[in-house]
Amino acid sequence: MLNISSIKKFVEENFSHFGINKKNEISRLFYEISKRQNINFLKIIKNLKDKNFSYIKKILLKRRYPYTLLNEKEPRFYLPVLDIHPENKFPIKKFKLYPKRIYIEKELKNISFVKRFKRNFSKAEFITIPSLKDYLKAHRYDLKDYNQRKDNFFIVKERYDFFKKCPCTKSAINCNYFILNLGFGCPYECIYCYLQEYTNSPGIIIPSNLEDFFRYFKRFKKSSKLRIGSGEFTDSLFLNDITGYSASLIDFFKDYPDVYFEFKTKSKNINYLLKSKPYKNIVVSWSLNPQKIIKECEFYTADLKERIESAVICTQAGFKVGFHFDPIIYYSGWQRDYKEVVDYLFDNIKEDRISWISLGTLRFNPRLKKIIENRFPENRILDEEFIFGFDNKLRYPRTLRFNIYKKMLGFIRKRAKYVWVYLCMEEKVIWQALENRDRHQFL
Ligand code: SF4
Repeated sequence: MLNISSIKKFVEENFSHFGINKKNEISRLFYEISKRQNINFLKIIKNLKDKNFSYIKKILLKRRYPYTLLNEKEPRFYLPVLDIHPENKFPIKKFKLYPKRIYIEKELKNISFVKRFKRNFSKAEFITIPSLKDYLKAHRYDLKDYNQRKDNFFIVKERYDFFKKCPCTKSAINCNYFILNLGFGCPYECIYCYLQEYTNSPGIIIPSNLEDFFRYFKRFKKSSKLRIGSGEFTDSLFLNDITGYSASLIDFFKDYPDVYFEFKTKSKNINYLLKSKPYKNIVVSWSLNPQKIIKECEFYTADLKERIESAVICTQAGFKVGFHFDPIIYYSGWQRDYKEVVDYLFDNIKEDRISWISLGTLRFNPRLKKIIENRFPENRILDEEFIFGFDNKLRYPRTLRFNIYKKMLGFIRKRAKYVWVYLCMEEKVIWQALENRDRHQFL
C-alpha cells in the first residue's frame, strides 16, 4: 500500500499556506495518480511547489482524469479525504462457508427451518436472541466486523420488507423489476459490492417465514406481468441447499405463469435447485465477467467456466437462464476479454434458452469508494476514471459508458439476434442512442 502518511506529511510541509480542504484534495490527487501510474508521488510534484492552488489542481486533474477532461463537459470529480487504515483490510483466506455463531430469534427456536441449520452446522454455537432489532440496538459494528460477517448467521422472521419494487436509481429508465428479499448479506467478497455500505450489518440475515411472503403476494398480485428476483441483497443460491428456498418458490410460482421468477447467483450451487421441476417462468441467472475480473475482484465466487457449466446443466434440465454483464468493468484490454466471454457463452448456450441479458457498467455511491479503498487497498478498479453521474453515483464518463454498451451489444448481436438485452440503471440518452442501433430489442 502507498505510504499515505508520507503524502500527507509532504503536502503539509510544502503547501502549508493552503487551507485544509485544498491540502486534502492535493493529497488525494497525489495518492490516486501515484497508485494508478505506479510511480512515487515525489515524481509528480516536480515544478509544482511554487504554484497557486488552481494551477496545481488543474495539472493534477489532467493527469488523473485524462479521458474525462477530453470527453466530458463540466465533469464533477470526487476527491474525498484520504482515510485508509490498514486494520480495515480484508484478509483473503481460503473460503469455507461454516458460521461460528447462529443467532435465532426466540420465537423461531423450535421450527424445522432452524433444525436444518443445526444439522448442517452442528459445530456452530446456537444463540437465542429476543429479536434482531433488539440485538442491533445493543451492538455496534464497523468495517472490521464486516470482514468477519460470514461467521455470524441470523435466522429471523421477516416482518416488514419481504417484497418491493426495485428502486432503480434516480432518473434512470427502470426495467420494472421486483425484489423478493430472501436474506441480507452474502459470504462472497466482490470488491465493488454495494452491500459493503451496510457496515452496521452484524452478519448474514436469513428469513425463515417464506409463507408470509406467499400470503402477501397472493393479495398483491393483480393481472399484470411481473419480473421478480431474489438476488438483490444476497446471492440467491449460496445457501439454497440448506434453506430449501428454491423448492418452495418454484412450487409457488408455477401457478403464476405470467410472473418470471429469477434466481441470481455467482455460485455453482445448483444441485438442490435441480431437484425441482423446471417451468417456463423460472429463470436461473448468472453475473458474468472475464475470468481476470473474477479472480481479481470477485473472491470466493465460482469461476467463469463453472458459472457457464452450471448454466448449461440448468438448461439441460429444462430451466431458462439469464445473464448479467453487470458490473462491466473497464480496463485496458476489456474489449477482447468481454468478447471472449460473450462468445464462450453462446458457444455453450443456445439463444432460445436465454430469457434476458442485462448490461450495466460499474457504478457506486461515493461513500463506497473509501470502503473499497480500506477493505481492498490494492484494488485496480478505482484507478479508472469515475466522476459524478446523472444520479450522483460515481460512474465512468458517459461517452465511455456508451462505447462500452455499443461494443457489448455488437458482440451479443453477432451471436444472438433476438435475445432481450436491457440496460440496468442507465439514463435515457444512452438507451435512446443504443435503441437507434438495436431497434425493438429493448423492453
Ligand atoms: S455475489 Fe453479489 S451480493 Fe455477493 S458479494 Fe458479490 S456482488 Fe455482493
